[in-house]
Amino acid sequence: MVNGKGPTPPRRDWHAMSADDVSAELASRHLGLTTAEAAERLEVYGPNRLPETRGRSALVRFFSQFANVLIYVLLASAIVAAFLGELVDAAVILAVVIANAVIGFIQEGRAERALDAIRAMIMPGATVMRDGHRVTVDADTVVPGDIVLLEAGDRTPADLRLVKARNLRIEEAVLTGESVPVDKGVEAVDASAVLGDRRSMAYSGTLVVAGQGAGVVVATGVETELGAISTLLGTVETLTTPLVRLMDRFAKQLTAAILGVAVIGFAFAVLARGYSVADALMAMVGLVVAAIPEGLPAVMTITLAIGVQRMARRNAIVRRLPAVETLGAVSVICSDKTGTLTRNEMTVRSVVTADDRAEVTGVGYEPAGDFEVAGARIEIAEGTVLGDIALAAILCNDARLRSTDAGWLVEGDPMEGALISLAMKAGRGEDRERFHRVDEIPFDSRHRYMATLHTDQAGAAVVHIKGAPERLLAMCTRQRGRGGSEPIDRQRWHEEIHRLASEGQRVLGFGMKPAPAAAKDLAADHLESDVVFLGIVGMIDPPRADAQDAVRECLAAGIKVKMITGDHAATASAIGRQLGLLDHDRVVTGAQLEDLEPAALRDLAEHSAVFARTSPEHKLRIVEALQAGDAVVAMTGDGVNDAPALKRADVGVAMGRQGTEAAKEAAEMVLLDDNFASIVAAVREGRTVYDNIRKVIGWTLPTSIGEALVIIAAILAGLALPVTPVQILWINMITAVALGLTLAFEPTEPGTMTRPPRSPSAALLSPFLVWRVVLVSLLFVGGAFGMFFWALDRGLDLTTARTLVVNTLVVMEIFYLFSVRYLNMTSITLRGIVGTPAVLIGVAGVVVGQFLFTYAPFMQAIFGTRSIAMVDGLIVIGIGILLLVLLEIEKLLRRWFMRRLA
Ligand code: ATP
Repeated sequence: MVNGKGPTPPRRDWHAMSADDVSAELASRHLGLTTAEAAERLEVYGPNRLPETRGRSALVRFFSQFANVLIYVLLASAIVAAFLGELVDAAVILAVVIANAVIGFIQEGRAERALDAIRAMIMPGATVMRDGHRVTVDADTVVPGDIVLLEAGDRTPADLRLVKARNLRIEEAVLTGESVPVDKGVEAVDASAVLGDRRSMAYSGTLVVAGQGAGVVVATGVETELGAISTLLGTVETLTTPLVRLMDRFAKQLTAAILGVAVIGFAFAVLARGYSVADALMAMVGLVVAAIPEGLPAVMTITLAIGVQRMARRNAIVRRLPAVETLGAVSVICSDKTGTLTRNEMTVRSVVTADDRAEVTGVGYEPAGDFEVAGARIEIAEGTVLGDIALAAILCNDARLRSTDAGWLVEGDPMEGALISLAMKAGRGEDRERFHRVDEIPFDSRHRYMATLHTDQAGAAVVHIKGAPERLLAMCTRQRGRGGSEPIDRQRWHEEIHRLASEGQRVLGFGMKPAPAAAKDLAADHLESDVVFLGIVGMIDPPRADAQDAVRECLAAGIKVKMITGDHAATASAIGRQLGLLDHDRVVTGAQLEDLEPAALRDLAEHSAVFARTSPEHKLRIVEALQAGDAVVAMTGDGVNDAPALKRADVGVAMGRQGTEAAKEAAEMVLLDDNFASIVAAVREGRTVYDNIRKVIGWTLPTSIGEALVIIAAILAGLALPVTPVQILWINMITAVALGLTLAFEPTEPGTMTRPPRSPSAALLSPFLVWRVVLVSLLFVGGAFGMFFWALDRGLDLTTARTLVVNTLVVMEIFYLFSVRYLNMTSITLRGIVGTPAVLIGVAGVVVGQFLFTYAPFMQAIFGTRSIAMVDGLIVIGIGILLLVLLEIEKLLRRWFMRRLA
């Protein structure tokens, strides 16, 4: 009995008890718990959840900020500076080290939290019986005693004692390490059976790979077998992607090179240029600080995290961070039709029998409408062909239709919802109660039909079959006419199917077969003979309103869209044309893909836009063929059989609503709204993220290199340094934080979706970017030295000259930021100058900082600065504007040359 004694039902050898005893023990019923009981038990037993793995603790995260070569160098320099008596310098360096760690800590924490929040948005669900109906609930609300229904593709939400199993096969690798699926049944097993042999149980976390079943929940949360072996499920995903790793490696190599240069520079300064050891050391500290792009990997990570957040806002949940980068390079999107490109709100429009063509009126799922033949309303009598189709429609069906305040809703497959509505219009809404379902063959996208065995109150048994019409025609040799069974007229049926399908209707065939009264089970070979064809039903499923625009956007962006559907070729072609995917009738069918040579398959996959009557295996072949042609492929899927294709695709996209857990787990991205337009929105964000990363790099490298060159040039020439090491520290701190980071927030540039996709093999540092880095670095050196000499020439003292140089460098960085914001565009518009809020806040912060740096007495004491005259300040700003103008001229010239070359 469930009682309040303990927080869990007592552990038992559930597997060795009979299903009935288990149900009795847990006060469970075949129709499930009531909502109130479930809520009560949730209070007693707690949520069905495993404790989450803790991420790194805040303290560990904080100290990990110090594990970085630059920090070591800085700390060592601070100590040496202190020994040399340069206490102010030592203090400044320490302050920078701490500030760096704090900023890194805060930024990383924000990025991690953002990703955690997004991951929580794809909560696994479970199908349970509550109040006598099947409903989908969050898996963590499942309680002991619940009846859970299992289907291929589900992850078992809790430990279950099976009470029903039909061809149920479960893969238990998480528990037993055995990846071959186990056949499950309801018979009790020996009490001593080990976990892998307990066939009467389905354990939490295991994957249903085939069949159907139901079980009573015997344990939830940490009490499950999974909870017992490990309370540490769920890997902590690291905040990294190939690109970030690449940059990380690049930054490390750069650091090593700079340290080498610094050692040589130190020796050169002391031996050849007569610097004191203290001065030379500080100059090298300045060089190291200037040149090492320490903030780069962190800013890149933040850029990615912001991209992930933006995608989530557009209903695309990224499960694996690298997908954000890959999305930006996608060149082909392969999409399902039903529910992704179409609304998946089906309504039956036509029913065709051997003698009649009936039109069905009504809107949506609401069961209000009539049957009309040749414009005249007809009644559907029991025993007529139309009546039997309506009967099959409701019996060979697992969905439920509910009237709610928001209208009529389907629980289950929308197509089956439409069939219930059809049956209700024909007055057969109550027939589920009159018949008892003895057995069934569930729908599978490979065999494309579903069959059920029913007995009526008088004990007569009959099999109802519905499925893809060609599939049904292949089973039948006879059809039902007005006068009874007659030989089938295949030619006519093919014409009728084609007629409905070419209007874009989804066509389904119906058949029936009498069975012996004692029949207890149903197997596929029972359906090989004596099935009588009843007729076909056509339903509309209009394209989504935004899908058409999204397809157009893809085509403009050089992304090919391919519709891969299990539906009929003519339906696929009609919908393909409505979506603007197709301007002809040529549709490739799954059968045509079989046995093709790889080269021919590649050609067909590349040049066709619509694939019909495909199975999940065909999807896999299409992805592979496209990838062999160097395409970067995004592929959608929802079923358990789609998992291989999703895994194989560069970006696997699972449906959040209709998708199985198996598909979601195989995918890189989950769509909360199952909508094709959301994939395109994610691609746009992916491109934006990649652009922003390039902007961050394009801004950071020249500013670092420019500052470093200023110091190296001064030492080589034996000049006084135009900026002191602590001043360089200041510039880097303030600009990297306030300016560099703003680029992570840049919105999508206009024209982002009219460019062709980037080649995945293209180097991140493109020739253009390298040229930019060189040019801008040199302009920085020119600006700094120009200002320095000009100031000294006018008789200003060294301190004032240095203050002017620092301000010049910072102003140039600000103006360069505006130029970098439009990497791909040729010129800056007014909007570009006005900038985003992030940029404006950043710039305002830097301006305030520079005023303090220049005029505040305490800052003057720390950084060795002096107040500058108003006019000089304006000249400094003028240099920034000049830089911007030069870069714009360069853009124009480059464009001109490109045109001449072309
Ligand atoms: P898409 O791949 O675009 O989502 P789809 O839903 O048509 O298209 P499948 O689910 O593989 O693809 O279905 C293939 C065919 O099987 C359908 O066109 C229909 O004829 C038939 N079918 C689908 N669902 C059922 C079902 N529940 N019962 C019987 N037949 C079905």
